[in-house]
Parts: sequence; structure tokens; C-alpha cells
Amino acid sequence: MSFDKLGLSAELLRAVREQGYTTPTPIQSRAIPAVLSGGDVMGAAQTGTGKTAGFTLPLLQRLTDNPRAGGQRSVRALVVTPTRELCAQVQESVRTYGRHLPLRSATVFGGVGMQPQVDALRRGVDVLVATPGRLLDHLRQRTVDLSAVEILVLDEADRMLDMGFIHDIRKLLAALPPRRQTLLFSATFSPEIRRLADGLLHDPVRIEV
Ligand code: AMP
Repeated sequence: MSFDKLGLSAELLRAVREQGYTTPTPIQSRAIPAVLSGGDVMGAAQTGTGKTAGFTLPLLQRLTDNPRAGGQRSVRALVVTPTRELCAQVQESVRTYGRHLPLRSATVFGGVGMQPQVDALRRGVDVLVATPGRLLDHLRQRTVDLSAVEILVLDEADRMLDMGFIHDIRKLLAALPPRRQTLLFSATFSPEIRRLADGLLHDPVRIEV
């Protein structure tokens, strides 16, 4: 299996090549075509499986292929992560894989000043990577516009529930348009995660690696 067969654009394949990747990991060979086809995905995958590229590469491609629907300052893809460390790592992947594409990304997480985040959001962000609490602060202050989100990714959803973020997640979901693509990744599928997934995902492709 090679990356060329997965349906990714030349710009993304170039970034992948520059990273030195030659073969997609199992989750990548299954998640990339599923996300490109526009459907919802429920992925059971631990860190280290290559899941970040598995959702980031096709997400970037869909944003490039589809015209922006909302206003210039609305977020097009939202990735929610449990911790700031993961948030920063995911944005690093977005930057790396998207380096040949004209898309802007930013992070929003707690423990640092609001103003630089507000400034970035005001300039316009295509891909926002955020932790739940700080993202809710921005929503309350109306410094972020999530009304035109096309793709939502919940990364490490089991950790988010363990950390008590379920109410925050539910509040965030209420700010998102119901018609969107949703991807949920979790290391484990507890009854609580299944309940969340059932309410969130429409006819998802299930991927376990
Ligand atoms: P992740 O599971 O997304 O945190 O990725 C784990 C590590 O695997 C990261 O350091 C990636 O740079 C690396 N990686 C992701 N996909 C590939 C691939 N297809 N070939 C080689 N390394 C990869």
C-alpha cells in the first residue's frame, strides 16, 4: 500500500514525502478514504498509530476541495483535544501536512493569555485546535464563530470524558451546525463513549486498529 492510492492531492503527498513517510499505517489506509468520502468516522486507536495524520491529511484535503461556506472569520474545521500538549501537537501536524496549502490554523487552550488567541481568531482561522474549557470561554465572549464548522474531530474522546469534559463538549456541540462531518477517536469504547458517539455520528465507518 502506498500513499498515492489513497486519493490525496499532490500538495499533501508532497508534505507526506517530506516527512519521510513511505507507507500509510493501518489506521491511515482506512481513515483517509473514509474521511475523503465525507462520512462520519469512529476510530478506536491509541497514540502512536498515526491517527493524527489519519484525520489531518483528509481533513485538509476536504477544506481545499470545498469552498468556504461561512464568513471570513468563521472556523471551518474544529479539532477538540483533552490537553494543551495534545492540542499543540495536533496543530504542529496540521502545519506540517498543510505546509503547501493556503490554510490557516490556530490553537486555543487555557493557561495562556486570551488576547493572542482573540487576535488570531479575528484574522481568520480555517483549522482550530482547541481544548474544551478555553473554547467555551471564547464562545461566551463571542470571539470565535463556530456556526459554519464543516468538520468536527473529537480526539482522545475517552480522556475528555475521564477529565470531566462531557458538559463542556455538549455545550460546544450546541454551537455547531448539525449538518457537518464528525470524526471521533478514542483508545477505548466504554458505554459512555458509545452513548456520545450514538448521538453524534451518523452511520459512521468504524475503524479499529
Ligand atoms: P500519532 O499516532 O498520530 O501520534 O503518530 C505517531 C508518530 O508516527 C508521529 O511521530 C508521526 O510523525 C509518525 N507517523 C505517522 N504516520 C506515519 C507513517 N505513515 N510512516 C511513518 N511514521 C508515521
